[in-house]
Amino acid sequence: IYNFNPGPAMFPKKILLKIQKNFHNWNKSNCSILEISHRSKNFLEYAINTEKNFRELLNIPSEYHVLFAQGGARGQFSAIPLNLLKPHETSDYINSGFWSYAAFLEAKKFCHPKNINIKYINNSKLHTLLPMNKWKLNPDSQYVHYCPNETIEGISIFEEPNFSQKIVIGDFSSVILSRVINIKKYSLIYASAQKNIGPAGLTIIIIKKDLLKNITQNVPSILNYQILFKTNSMFNTPPIFSWYVAGLTFKWLKKKGGIAAIEKKNILKAKTLYKYIDSTEFYNNLVVPENRSLMNITFFLKNHTLTPIFLNNAEKNKLYGLKGHSAYGGIRASIYNAMSIKGIFSLIKFMKYFEKKFG
Ligand code: PLP
Repeated sequence: IYNFNPGPAMFPKKILLKIQKNFHNWNKSNCSILEISHRSKNFLEYAINTEKNFRELLNIPSEYHVLFAQGGARGQFSAIPLNLLKPHETSDYINSGFWSYAAFLEAKKFCHPKNINIKYINNSKLHTLLPMNKWKLNPDSQYVHYCPNETIEGISIFEEPNFSQKIVIGDFSSVILSRVINIKKYSLIYASAQKNIGPAGLTIIIIKKDLLKNITQNVPSILNYQILFKTNSMFNTPPIFSWYVAGLTFKWLKKKGGIAAIEKKNILKAKTLYKYIDSTEFYNNLVVPENRSLMNITFFLKNHTLTPIFLNNAEKNKLYGLKGHSAYGGIRASIYNAMSIKGIFSLIKFMKYFEKKFG
C-alpha cells in the first residue's frame, strides 16, 4: 500500500508502530500521550530534546530561535506581516504558484505587499520561473517572501537567496527536511507539519533572533513571535501529540543519516519518476526540468477523460492519494521523505500497465 497524499501524508511505518506501542503509557508516565501535561517534566524534557535534534538536522545557527506554533502555514501568512510590518510599510511577495499567491492575498489584509509574478508559460507550454537573480525587488520593501516548493503545481525553486540587506522569508511547508539548506540565507523559515514533520496542528518557525526586537504589543498574542519565544512555545496549550510525533520523525531522520542522505534518496526517487513520464507521450509533466519539484510530481494524461479511470484503477492497486489539486487538475504524486523507492517502482509499474490497457 502506498499513499501519495500531499499532506497529511504517508508516514514511516516504524514511527506508526512506535506511536501505537507507547500510546497508553507514554514515556513511562502512566498517561497516554493524549493525557500528558505540556508542563510536566517528562514532556518539557522531550520538547527540549526535539528542538535539539531539529537544530542538528538542519544545522541551525545559535542566532536563530526555533518556535513551535499552531495555525498551520496559513496562520503564518497572517503572522508574518502582523509581526514584521507596520500598516503603511511594504513587502515583496514572489508569486510562483498557488501557495505563494495565497500568502500575498493574506498579507494584503494588513499592509501593502507587492505581488511580483515570476511564472510564465513559454512557447513549449512548460511552466517556467524567472531565475532568482532577475527578481525585481522593491528597494523600499521590508522583506521578500517566497515559496521554494509549490505543492499544488509541483514547481520548485532550488536556488538559495542572496539578497543583501533584505529580510528573506520562505514557506518551506512541503520541502523542509527533504534537502540541505543554508539557514543563514534566510531570516525566517516556516513550515506546517503535515508533510515531512508529523501530524497537522504543529507549525515550526525558524527565526533570526534580532527580528523579535521590533514586534509591537498590537500583534494578536497567539501570533506574536516574541510571546511565543518567551513562553517556550507554550503560550497556549500546544498540540502535544503532533509535537511528540515530530520528535520521533527527527530521531528517525537522524538514524537514516540526516538530511544529506535523505536528499540523495529524494533525488533518485523523483528522477526515476520524471524519467518514466518523459519517456512516454501518454503522460506529461508541464514544468521545466530546472524547476521540477522533488516532493510533488504532477502530470497529466494526454487523454484527460481517462483521469478518473486512472485514479480509480490506482486505488484498486493500492496506490492512494494521486488526484491532483482541484486548482490544477491531473495527477499528483507526493513523494515526501517517508515514500520509498519501492513505492515509486510500484507507481511506474501501474502507469505502464494503464498505458498498455488504454493507450
Ligand atoms: N504552504 C504550502 C507550500 C502548502 O503546501 C500548504 C498546504 O498544503 C500551505 C501553505 C497551507 O498549510 P496549512 O494547511 O497548514 O495552513
